[in-house]
This record gives sequence, structure tokens and C-alpha cells, in this order.
Amino acid sequence: MLEKVVIANRGEIALRILRACKELGIKTVAVHSKADKDLMHVRLADEAVCIGPNSSTESYLNIPRILSAAEVTDATGIHPGYGFLAENADFAEMVENSGFTFIGPTAATIRVMGDKVAAIKAMQKSGVPTVPGSNGPLDDDAERTMRIAKEIGYPVIIKASAGGGGRGMRVVHSEAALINSIFVTKAEAKGAFGNDVVYMEKFLENPRHVEVQILADGQGGAIHLFDRDCSMQRRHQKVVEEAPAPHMDEAARQQVLKSCTDACLEIGYRGAGTFEFLYEDGGFYFIEMNTRVQVEHPVTEMITGVDIIKEQLRIASGLPLSVKQEDVVIEGHAFECRINAEDAKTFMPSPGKVTQFHAPGGLGVRVDSHIYSGYSVPPFYDSMIAKVITHAPTRAEALKRMEVALDEMIIDGIKTNIPLQKEIVRDAHFIEGGMNIHYLEKKLGL
Ligand code: ADP
Repeated sequence: MLEKVVIANRGEIALRILRACKELGIKTVAVHSKADKDLMHVRLADEAVCIGPNSSTESYLNIPRILSAAEVTDATGIHPGYGFLAENADFAEMVENSGFTFIGPTAATIRVMGDKVAAIKAMQKSGVPTVPGSNGPLDDDAERTMRIAKEIGYPVIIKASAGGGGRGMRVVHSEAALINSIFVTKAEAKGAFGNDVVYMEKFLENPRHVEVQILADGQGGAIHLFDRDCSMQRRHQKVVEEAPAPHMDEAARQQVLKSCTDACLEIGYRGAGTFEFLYEDGGFYFIEMNTRVQVEHPVTEMITGVDIIKEQLRIASGLPLSVKQEDVVIEGHAFECRINAEDAKTFMPSPGKVTQFHAPGGLGVRVDSHIYSGYSVPPFYDSMIAKVITHAPTRAEALKRMEVALDEMIIDGIKTNIPLQKEIVRDAHFIEGGMNIHYLEKKLGL
């Protein structure tokens, strides 16, 4: 087992990683910005190193400083969490070249999955269903491009191969707008990602977001931990997630779950990962793979009993998976509500001092959060301050449990989106389940 791990992240995920390390007897090093010296995991870690000022570019994104911290503390591994450097192939490579273990896939895998055209090709090879599209980059041949679009059928979406975070995409409704849209998307992609390769896909109008959690040990072991529905989104940001995805076509689901584990073996995947799909009319369409742990991993942990972070640490230590596919069974249903420090109506960030914090509890209630009474939410980073997760034998009970938990939760001193979450869990259509990715924005009148 790894002896000492640098947690190259902050907030709730840093605390989550710290807890898993402690359970496995791994020593921990918290690296943090100046503003984050009072973070919960910084206090609980065996060692803490301040790696820079408040701005993330000078701290959590500063590779040399993170590597130096690992060096001076004699750490053996580095866990990147999510966001920041988690999907940066150059970082993974530098970590390994510096003699540390990167807790995640190989740099080569991260690189392939970060290039969407390459990722889609790799998936098709393993039988993972993808969106009908250009099956490769679009070139300067306008006639060929128009022919492809016609075959796919409008509307189509032009996407940057190097895109991410919902940027570098443009929907095209008619042939008249096609060539100019490609031109503009290419220029934007060049500016934003330094790479102007774009490709085309059919634009699915009312899909759900359904994703598959996988674990692979890189030694021939690969399993899936079933699926999650993350369709409740605002501006491509997930707001509520649940597992398993409700109201699915069972045959399509089983097929896609198997194709995901097949793909892991085919590409020699190592670590935890997520296959993201759009799901429409009973069909799955792969859009991208995330080569890291995700914010919403707890809902999967609740229904399967598998500790995803501990598995990541075991895999990085060179151990095989501790669970077999046939032992993974779904028990009950789980929801996660993301609690953000923001105005529930205007979504304006609301940093500041938390004067009082009371976390909900009881059977089947889990709160992953780094905040405490007296903690000041800094204005420099992501606004998520807590995740409330509920688990119960049925979907209806888990949802009711979430209602009670949210009613019990107190965060004073700053504004939060708890009022919005309370509204969502009482929404008749949400209670019914299976709403598409546009539902929340429509409900909010956006
Ligand atoms: P990113 O890496 O920027 O998150 P994705 O490929 O995951 O890009 O797409 C982000 C979001 O854009 C999806 O969750 C979905 O809402 C929308 N989207 C992407 N591709 C399509 C498509 N073919 N049809 C409809 N919506 C799409």
C-alpha cells in the first residue's frame, strides 16, 4: 500500500480522500493555498504545506509547487481529486517522471480521452454506442461536410475535439448556417484550447444524462458499478444526481454496462472512471469519458457499498480490485444534492463566514462537507460547500429522506441554494423521475 499521499485538491473532496487514506493507514499531506489554511482537511492531515497564494493558478494548478511539496514531505503518491489537475495528462506524466505514483490512469490514457475524436474512436472499437456523426475531424471540404450533415440530419452539433467544461460547441439547425458555424467554432477552439480540430454529431434534442461508473486495476480486472442519472443541470452543471438511473430500458442498460467494462479492458484502463452518455428513446450515446473520480461518486457508493476512493488507492498501490462483478449488486436508491454558496434565485456566488452550520443526520443520510461553524468560504474557488446524500430501500423513500434532511440543514451567514434544492425534491415531475437535461432550466424559466 502507498505510504504517504499528497492530496492535490481542496474542499470536500480533499477531506473525502483524507478519510479514505486514514482508513487504509496511509499518511497524508495537505497542500493548500494561503486562503485555505483553515480548511478541515488541512487541520486533520499528518502534514500540511502552503503551496502559494489564493489564486488557483498559483497554487492548486501550479505543478512545480505540488511536486516540490511531495518531494520535501517524502510522499509516495499524489491524488488529484477532481477538477484542477485531475485530467491534465502532462501533470500525470510529470508526477510519474518525478518518481511518485499518480493516483489515476496513465498519462497516455488521459491524453486519449481528452481528445474527443480519439476517445470516440477508441469507444467504437469496443462496441460502446456513440452519437451518429462525422466519425473524425471535419476538413476544408465544404461539400463533404454538407453531405455528412445531411446524412446525419439536422440539427447537428459542431464540437471541438479538445473541448471541455461545456465550451467549444455550437448547434446548427440548417445547411445555410453550417459552414460559417464550423468556421467560428474552429476559431474559438483555437483560441480556447490551442487546437482547432472540430467534429460533428447529431444534436439530440431531449436526452437524459446517464453515466456509468467503472473501476479497473490495469491487471485484467474491470468492473462497472452501475449507472447514475445526472440530468438535473443548470448551465451544464449538475445540481442533483441519483443512482441507479430510473426508468431505463433494461436490455440497453445491460448491454451498455458490459460495453463499458469491455472498453476498459480494450484500452488497458487503470483507476476509477466514468463513461458519460446521452440517453434518448431507450438508446445510449457516448459523449465522453472522465478519467477521475467525480463529484457524484457517493450515490454509487451508497447503492453498491463499494468505497471508490479506497479502490483508487488500492489500484494505485498495484493491488487488484477488491470486488468482483458478480458481487456488485444494487441495494436501494440514492440521491445527492449539491449545496453551493450562492443565491438560490440569482445564482450569484455568496462567499463569507458561516456563522452557524448544522448538518442533517440519521439513518441513510450522509453529508460530505468541509465547512464548519466559523469557517469562511473564500471567493476564489468553486462555490460547492457540501453534498447531502440520502440512501433508502426505494427511490421514493430516498427522496423523502432528502426532503427531511434538507429541511434539517442549517447554514447561516451566507446564502446557499438549499431553497432551490428543497423545491426540486418536491417537484412532481422530478419525483416521477426520468426528466431530460433541459427540465431544470425550463422549470427555472431560463
Ligand atoms: P464537455 O467536455 O465540454 O463537458 P460534452 O461532450 O460532455 O462536453 O458535452 C457537454 C454537454 O453538451 C452535454 O452534457 C450535453 O448537454 C451537450 N451535448 C453534447 N453533445 C451533444 C449532442 N450530440 N446532442 C445534444 N447535446 C449534446
